Amino acid sequence: MLEYIVNSLRAILISCKIVIYRQKIPRQMEPSFHGDLRILLLPDLPAVCRHAECGSAKELNNIERGRRFHMARREHFVQIYDLHTHTTMSDGHVSIDDLVAWEHGMGHQLGVSDHVFYEGIFTERDIAAYLEVLRRYPVYRGIEANMEHHFALPDSLDTQIDYVIASIHNMPDGRGGMIPMDSFFKKRSGNMPGYTKNYSSDLNRWYLAHSLRLIEKALANERIDILGHITLMPCCDELYGTKFLLDWENAVLNLCRRHCVALEISGLWRLPNMEMLRRAKEMGILFSMGSDCHEAKDVGVLDYCKLAVDTIGLSEEDFFVPARALY
Ligand SMILES: [Zn+2]
Ligand SMILES: [Zn+2]
Repeated sequence: MLEYIVNSLRAILISCKIVIYRQKIPRQMEPSFHGDLRILLLPDLPAVCRHAECGSAKELNNIERGRRFHMARREHFVQIYDLHTHTTMSDGHVSIDDLVAWEHGMGHQLGVSDHVFYEGIFTERDIAAYLEVLRRYPVYRGIEANMEHHFALPDSLDTQIDYVIASIHNMPDGRGGMIPMDSFFKKRSGNMPGYTKNYSSDLNRWYLAHSLRLIEKALANERIDILGHITLMPCCDELYGTKFLLDWENAVLNLCRRHCVALEISGLWRLPNMEMLRRAKEMGILFSMGSDCHEAKDVGVLDYCKLAVDTIGLSEEDFFVPARALY
């Protein structure tokens, strides 16, 4: 009974806060509210907030500092997480100190996800040292693994890791070999003028079929919490709009749902396409936000994630959040 009264009072307080905040909305945003006013009447709106500070004065302070992304049409706030970031400990060009300071200055919850068994962190001893550094900061401790590798870790390390992002960085050629995509990544991010193509467009469907097999195997055998930039392959760009790619995307989404793995919305790569994200939402798949920053200019750049939140109508409960409390 006491719990019921407390919950009722909390709901009333939170509703009051919403009304107060509504008055701050600029005039040009008013038309979009009128169509969705009924959302204010939904009794379960407070339940969407999962954070301890929701409904408190602290949250209002955070809002005033721009710490939360305001979804005007839904009259709700989505905490921005940047869970895909790199530092000088792997192949990033930003120090951990700068990364933490800049992301926190933007009001983001930060997870660091340097590459493992790749680009500077090559051994389990290196991973232990990396995690030791992260323990000194108020950040989630993540890693980004190459899906084409085995990356199971001993429990002593695995239990210190809040989440694992698995991404494809070398495209399977279908003959047991791998096609490096480094130069494609650099070209796509605008950092490589002298690009040389190292794959055959005639084999695009072949690459995708083998990539799907790779993803299926990895999801079945490895610890994976987030599928990173999963459509970042030249064959996805070149086959965009085809039935084949649509079927491939749906097969990936089915695997995400089957294995309860979150689908990353990538700030740097502006992927996956909005239609794939919309279908993922319909399937009840969780999402994750990540800038995939390696350079200072890309730190905390999550415009595409915010666009997806607004376009598809995502709320906080649509996002994967690591289980450990940061503060
Ligand atoms: Zn990656
Ligand atoms: Zn990355």
